[in-house]
Amino acid sequence: MKTIFRLVLMSCFFTMTINSNAQVKNRKAIKKDFLGCNTPDPIGSFALDTSSPTRGMADNNFLWDNGKTINVKILSGSKSLKDKVKKYASEWMKYANIKFNFIEQGDAQIRVYLGDKKGDYGHVTMGLGIKCLMRDPNDFTMHFDTTDLITEKSLKRTVLHEFGHALGLIHEHMSPVSGIQWDSTAVYARKRLMGWSKEMTDAQLFRRYNISYTNGTAYDPKSIMHYPISPWETKNHYYVDWNDDLSEGDKALIAALYPKNERVNKVPRIIITNVGETIIENNSLKKGISIYPSFSINCADKPADIYYVCMLVDENNYFIPTQSNNYNINNKAGCIKVVKLPINQTEILNKGKKNFEIFIPASELPNTISGKKLKVYFRAFLMQDGELKELLGSLSNNSVMLNKF
Ligand SMILES: [Zn+2]
Repeated sequence: MKTIFRLVLMSCFFTMTINSNAQVKNRKAIKKDFLGCNTPDPIGSFALDTSSPTRGMADNNFLWDNGKTINVKILSGSKSLKDKVKKYASEWMKYANIKFNFIEQGDAQIRVYLGDKKGDYGHVTMGLGIKCLMRDPNDFTMHFDTTDLITEKSLKRTVLHEFGHALGLIHEHMSPVSGIQWDSTAVYARKRLMGWSKEMTDAQLFRRYNISYTNGTAYDPKSIMHYPISPWETKNHYYVDWNDDLSEGDKALIAALYPKNERVNKVPRIIITNVGETIIENNSLKKGISIYPSFSINCADKPADIYYVCMLVDENNYFIPTQSNNYNINNKAGCIKVVKLPINQTEILNKGKKNFEIFIPASELPNTISGKKLKVYFRAFLMQDGELKELLGSLSNNSVMLNKF
């Protein structure tokens, strides 16, 4: 992913704090590091299924249906390279109750682009597990920089790693029970030379998932989802070499997440598809602005609490400061709508007809934006166990000239 923005979310019942200090317009492109992949981890998420004591981490909210056949299309590359990607990705099928069905024609949920450094995407899975379904069907959902994969080993480990993300696995070196004693000063300095900001380094290396989600699972330094660590990166010179194969922990984890029988540990699994433009309009009748996000959403396994968050931005894409008590997100103008999603029922929002509105009264907006152009930054979050996970985030292209008030 070329641009990754990582937002720290904290919430308690009706108070939501969203890290919006970085203006929307100032989100920076993040360069790839040869040491890792660019797949963003979800916020505060973890494997909940802990039937085995020694295995890694996944985000259960974004697992595919157990037993699912996933169509995979490789969009570019030579036949021999495609065959290798298929061969290595298929390793996961030996242990998971999942099938990758490689197709040449037709619709595929996973679309792989074998690139040659152009575009600076590096190795990346666009959306963990089922989050890839939110991508535009014309875009790839996984990208490899094949110029960086010149050995068989590097190709194999990278394909295994990215397809691990595609099945919902997250980075093992971010386990809260890893005990890794990072030499943060040295790592920040080195990463800065490679174009990583402090935030990027925190997000890719130092972030720790909530311990409460580990439920006793052990750290697995042999995991294919672990980055290599050099001795200089840690205070005690601990290091992890490249892992080239699935570890025993990886095999146990994926078999537990996609078991031969019914999945034991069920959590809400949300699929958002068919994402369209969020429309923002004056509403003269109700005296305010109406916002209409457009997408389809489905919930499986357990009902879910979904937070829809609208933050207003000006024509230069800056958030708008506000003093409002009720339409205020971290002192920025906006509002939050909370809905309960039942299971196995697809809700289709604002497709063809307006059936879901988020309204902000003009009386709650700061006078400074009266008569000015406005856009909306719309986001959707899943709330689970006191934590928010971002499902969707998009800044509208559409804008409205706000009525004077
Ligand atoms: Zn990764």
